[in-house]
Amino acid sequence: MSSSVLFLGTGGARFVVARQLRASGGMWMRFGATQIHVDPGPGALVRALSHVPPCNPRELDAIVLSHKHLDHSSDVNVIIEAMTSGGFRRRGAVLAPSDAFDFEPVVLPYARQFVERIECLQPNSGPYMIGEVELTTSSQHVHAVQTYGLHFAHAGLRVAYLPCARYSDDLAADYAARRPDVLILNVLRHRDEALVDHLTWPLACRVVAEVRPKVAVFGHFGTKMLEADPPRLAQALEDELGVRAIAAYDGLELDLETLVAAAA
Ligand SMILES: [Zn+2]
Ligand SMILES: [Zn+2]
Repeated sequence: MSSSVLFLGTGGARFVVARQLRASGGMWMRFGATQIHVDPGPGALVRALSHVPPCNPRELDAIVLSHKHLDHSSDVNVIIEAMTSGGFRRRGAVLAPSDAFDFEPVVLPYARQFVERIECLQPNSGPYMIGEVELTTSSQHVHAVQTYGLHFAHAGLRVAYLPCARYSDDLAADYAARRPDVLILNVLRHRDEALVDHLTWPLACRVVAEVRPKVAVFGHFGTKMLEADPPRLAQALEDELGVRAIAAYDGLELDLETLVAAAA
């Protein structure tokens, strides 16, 4: 069986999310028979159910949060209830940094009882097994809350997700060392003079140049990034580096094996 990622949202930053200029439902990943919902932000359940064909939360094996910011976690309790048939069928897993469970928790205590397994993600750790998938975490990103990159491995395919983070050469080297086939990066900002805890487009390009995945996919766009035309930027990067580069849009579904094979 093949692997795929479906973008239930490609918006980031408060303004884009608040106005839903792009949706914010996170990613629905399939690795063989294993299904994982990553970063279910505002509208995640609605986007999952209204996709054609619909994603079925009762088939989910796990929900994974890269970090607890609202645009990545607001629907986590809703998806837990949907995954567990309203709490009547105890199943599935929730994996998230520990501050999603203890300090100002976003995963509500009542909902935790509905799932079979709760896992506090630690930096540079794993593999955490989710069905047939091995998940390992990156080192802790520089971001306002505990944030980890997520590395998924299944049947020889390696998929890395770089969520929100301040750029550093260590960050790029950390992802390069994992040699992902597919690298999904959140690029909130187009350009910025001030140092912020998010990647800008030039810094995202620097990460891709360092990691050199077979396929780079960009999402989680802020207003200025959207105005800068992500598909045009991705094409320019692809021409420059020779790395397949894709700007995600809401509802985009990527067949990962096919993409990686075509890029090889
Ligand atoms: Zn975010
Ligand atoms: Zn964040």
